[in-house]
Amino acid sequence: MASTALALHHMQLPGSTASATLTYTLVRSQRRTIGLEVGSNGLTVRAPLRASHSAIERVLHDKARWIADKLQHMQQRQAAQPRIVWQPQPHTDLPYLGGRLRLQLHPAAPCHGAVLAVGPGQWAVHLPGSAHTSASDLRAQAWAWWLRQAHQLFSERLQHYAPLLGVRWLSLRLSSARTRWGSAHSDGRIMLNAKLLHYRLPVLDYVVAHELAHLHEMNHSPRFWAWVAQVCPDHLALRAELRAHAAPQW
Ligand SMILES: [Zn+2]
Repeated sequence: MASTALALHHMQLPGSTASATLTYTLVRSQRRTIGLEVGSNGLTVRAPLRASHSAIERVLHDKARWIADKLQHMQQRQAAQPRIVWQPQPHTDLPYLGGRLRLQLHPAAPCHGAVLAVGPGQWAVHLPGSAHTSASDLRAQAWAWWLRQAHQLFSERLQHYAPLLGVRWLSLRLSSARTRWGSAHSDGRIMLNAKLLHYRLPVLDYVVAHELAHLHEMNHSPRFWAWVAQVCPDHLALRAELRAHAAPQW
């Protein structure tokens, strides 16, 4: 029988970094050696079922330099490409409307999710689930919620900007393409990237205004940009902001 105990542990690092605390996940299983692994969730220590705590700490002391290097490398990589760490417990944080959304699982949460405004730029959503929900189930559930949220908000923004631009849009479709934020068909069909929901509302609004302006001009001519500027005067700065910040991978 393979039994696995999973817990977060802390230990003081030796030497000049005496004040630094190392946090790691300990996974015990039927194996013979103590193994270390640094991933997007930090340090994981894999140990035999009967390995003593002091034996584990000895390995950590011996490998302190290697661990520190690996953790630093991982942090640099994550800073370059924002990533979402999908963990059912205690919560998963996502960039949302330029702020932060905290996903939490509750057994009694409604299946469509319950959104709570926690503070300025901070939201929480409770999705149905428990400590037994897997990370991939959490992600699938979150994505379904995200698409509903995106469709609702994007529709509202299209509703707001279409009359200002004097155009009619026919339908909204969501995409998650990596390279495209939106597109417009001359018959009024609009496609918007669901990942725009990661950005501040003015950035999202710029893309909405951009696609609606295409219903006047199916090109990027000065006349097109004049339509955009009419409802979105700071479109240049917003476009730069969109380019400067990558959306996280799901
Ligand atoms: Zn365009």
